[in-house]
Amino acid sequence: MKEKTMKALVKTAKGPGLVELQEVPVPRIGDNEVLIEVKAAGICGTDLHIYHDEFPYWPPVILGHEFAGTIAAVGKNVRGWKPGDRVVGEPHTLACGRCWLCRTGNRQLCPEKRSPGWGIDGCFAPYMRFPEPELLHRLPDNLTLEEATLVEPMANVVTDVLERGRVEAGDMVAVIGPGPIGLLAAMAAKAAGAAMVMLVGTDADESLRLPVARKIRSIDYVLNVQKENVVAFGLDVSGGRGVDVVVEASGSASGIALGIELLRKLGRFTAIGLTGKGEIAFPYDPAMFKALTFIFNLSTSFTSWETAIRLLSSGKIETAPLITHRGSLDRWPELFSALEEKKGIKGVFLP
Ligand SMILES: [Zn+2]
Ligand SMILES: [Zn+2]
Repeated sequence: MKEKTMKALVKTAKGPGLVELQEVPVPRIGDNEVLIEVKAAGICGTDLHIYHDEFPYWPPVILGHEFAGTIAAVGKNVRGWKPGDRVVGEPHTLACGRCWLCRTGNRQLCPEKRSPGWGIDGCFAPYMRFPEPELLHRLPDNLTLEEATLVEPMANVVTDVLERGRVEAGDMVAVIGPGPIGLLAAMAAKAAGAAMVMLVGTDADESLRLPVARKIRSIDYVLNVQKENVVAFGLDVSGGRGVDVVVEASGSASGIALGIELLRKLGRFTAIGLTGKGEIAFPYDPAMFKALTFIFNLSTSFTSWETAIRLLSSGKIETAPLITHRGSLDRWPELFSALEEKKGIKGVFLP
């Protein structure tokens, strides 16, 4: 019998570029695995980093880890899932289950983890083999599969801003960087009870990201650091004390320095995303004089996925303005460059 094939977006080998749409076999599943029909797949900064050879990966590999879809088939040992179920999934596949991190509930940080999209085949394809059904999460009916591609970035925000950054009712929160993560972080902080949320961008964000942010109801203030005195504003709005929590989502040395200036003494700084550099200038003594708590973050906790789904489903997060680009897989060059040039916020493939 002839093998069924599909078109998938593949990183073919090590090196910059080397991404192409290829005809590949539709995956077969083992007894403990599920086959997912991908209905929507979010394009993440990680995919762009892999395109440019700036993130670890094991080629040839189908890109993409932010999937939402329906279960197409289940292996004979799989319990609790059936064809047609609407799902998203934590990308923490192939964690060893034995190491200290796995045994303490932190499989997302296991050194043996190989996620879809870089370690094993991902979701930029019509079908995807998912080896660990226990990592799947069921979607409520009121969340569309396109919106559900935001669950993974939202889970990052929940882990980093709510669980680890501990935003509390009444907090004054400044978010630096108005990309998809910054926008979600600002809305999540407000949903968690922040009294005030301000979002900071630059001239480069004026064409799209800041105008979108200004339309989102739960973001109180949107500022351009190249046009306004953001530190003076932050002091003023917090009665001279400084803000309680800074969420850094720009990955720039200047954004990090600004965050430290904005915080009150004993404030909390929670950082999302990489700078792309091994070392950066850091205002160490000013942070010390304020006795700040600085939180580094990587990946998502189990609990953050459930919270992210509930938050998105609650209607407290405006998802519509965030997905600016959508298209079929063959339009990948156009979608990748729109996101890189900040002409888009979030792009979604509809395979
Ligand atoms: Zn992602
Ligand atoms: Zn492990």
